[in-house]
Formats: sequence, structure tokens, C-alpha cells
Amino acid sequence: MNKIENVISSLYKIPLDEPLGDAMHAKHVYFELVVVEIKTEDGNIGYGYTYTGGVGGIIICNMIELYLKPILLGQDSACIEKLWVEMYKLLHYVGRGGIDSFAIAAVDIALWDIKCRIAKMPLWKMIGGGKGFARAYAGGIDLDFTKEKLLQNIKLYMSQGHNAFKIKLGKDSLDEDINRVKAVRELIGNEATFMVDANYKWTSENAIRACRELEKYNVLWLEEPVSPDDIEGYKKVASKSSIALACGENLHTIFEFENMFKYGHIDYPQPDASNLGGITGWLKVAVMCQAKNLPVSTHGMQELHVNLLSGVSNSGWLEIHSFPIDRYTMNPLKIDDGKVFPSNDFGTGVIFNFDVLNSYLFSI
Ligand SMILES: [Mg+2]
Repeated sequence: MNKIENVISSLYKIPLDEPLGDAMHAKHVYFELVVVEIKTEDGNIGYGYTYTGGVGGIIICNMIELYLKPILLGQDSACIEKLWVEMYKLLHYVGRGGIDSFAIAAVDIALWDIKCRIAKMPLWKMIGGGKGFARAYAGGIDLDFTKEKLLQNIKLYMSQGHNAFKIKLGKDSLDEDINRVKAVRELIGNEATFMVDANYKWTSENAIRACRELEKYNVLWLEEPVSPDDIEGYKKVASKSSIALACGENLHTIFEFENMFKYGHIDYPQPDASNLGGITGWLKVAVMCQAKNLPVSTHGMQELHVNLLSGVSNSGWLEIHSFPIDRYTMNPLKIDDGKVFPSNDFGTGVIFNFDVLNSYLFSI
């Protein structure tokens, strides 16, 4: 038994290279990274983490420190499912898909790190050794860019080895959005994969109108056309359009995914391990997708998700998000003709470079 001896959480506030905007969130100027270190009595150490767009990091650390740590100490680090359910039950009344889903995620990822290290296995093999790679796309947070800057940014992605791209929509006028879509499609050519993301700005009526225009530009998916709470809206948009719908970054429990599958509509589910209870939550959604004959894609934390997508057989698309967490690890991602390969290091494959990270440590 690998008894948990200590749980330490730290918050880092990491500035972005430039302010980034989308249709619904305040402009991002930095992101928060909560890193959890778990030690076991026999000397094993695992690291887990979650991230935010700039709000909530302190509360996540407090939740781990005040409520999760006491129930984790002395328990067997290998019994991840048991601990996952205990953490979920403890926080359910006040959490239920809120901050708790982020706090549990950071702990869960650290437990998987320990498990993989002890087993001397990389994560992607530990969970099944599926496809062995992930198809990636560049996900820009680019709504505030001028059209010229937007195109320049896409050119930068192309020079990095990308051949699939996503841009933000949700300008004040649909004409302006479609004008940007047209310009990007012309730049990347007809073969390249192209997605768009409205960050739930629209009503279903607006989204249906947008879909009619988007249909002309061979768009693979429209992401978050309406609020994640407007489950019926997803169904309505899907019934009136031929554009596939993506969502998941704002579904923070497996039950929210189940409700969206059952009563709404998703073609490209995008679970994010950082806000869905970690690797355990992500894998549960991946199986739900498999049973529905759907690919499973991701949102954010590409340095971890590459290892999850590589490990399953129904992998969809890896988002290379504009929060470059991988830049603060020992093995930043390399895109090779639109593909990314998993880490073969024992553990989750995410090894933080604390020499760099420590200058962003935020004392709580
Ligand atoms: Mg999105």
C-alpha cells in the first residue's frame, strides 16, 4: 500500500504574451496554474494540476488544502476510483461541477502520475495504448485581432506545422464574422481543417442564421453556439443545420455530458481533464463517447491531453490552446504535419520546469 503522506498545492499566475479575447470572457492577460504535489510514505511523488482563465485559483488551492487533503492523508494512492468518488461526495453539496471539479482534477492527475511512475509506464500506455498519436489543431483566442492580424496569426500556426485551425466568432455583426471566416478559408486552402468557436454568445436563432452562412465554407464544427445550460438550444441548432456541433469545456461533470448527449446534441465532445475531475473524469466521458460512436476531443492543457488522446481508440482532435502550459514543462509539444506524439516518460508525461515556473509563484 502506498499511503499518502502529504498533499501540497501551489498557485502560479502566468502572464500571456499579449491580451487575448473571445466573445464572452473578460480579456485574458494571464492564466492561473494550480500544481498539486502528492507524496507517499514510500517516497513516491506525483504532480497534478489544473488551470483557470485568471479567476478561482486561490479557492481551488484552499479547497484542496482545507477539505481534500484531510480525507486523502493515510489512504492508498493506488485506489484512485475510490478516492475520486469520496472527493466528489464530500464536495457535492457545495460543489457539483464548480470549483470542486477543478480541485479534484488536480489531485486525480497527481494520483495517476504516481500510479504510472510506480508501474514504470507512460500514461498513454497505462490507459490502453490506443492510437499512439493525436491529431492537433491550433485554437486561437483571436476575436479581438484585426483581420490582418488574424491572418498573420494563422500563418504563424502554419509555419509551426499546423494544418487544422480554429478561430473565434461572435463579433457584433454576423457579416464581420463571415468575412473573417472567408478570409481564413482562402488563406488555408480547401483541404485544411477549419473549426469556429462562438463561446456561447448566441441564441439558437442567431446560431441557426450563422450556420446557414458557415455551410458555404466547409467548417468542420461550430463550437459552443449557445450557452452550455441551453441544452435544448443545442438540439434546435443541430436540427436546423448541417454543421456539426462541438462543446464540452463548460460541462464539468459526467452527468452534464450525459444530459447533453440525451437531451441536447454534440457531434464533437470536448472534455477537459482540468475541469472534469481529472484523468478519471476524462476517461469516463471518453467511454461514453465510444458507446455513442463519437470521437472524443479535448479543450486546453494540450501537454496532458496528448497523452490521453494517444491512449484511446476513439480519439478526435487535440486543441493546441492559446494558454501555453507546455512551455513551462520539460518537453514542450512539437507539431509534426498536424500530429503530436505522446510522452514516453513514466508518469502523466507532464514534468514541470520549476526553475521557470517558480518566478510566477503567487503566495496565498
Ligand atoms: Mg472553446
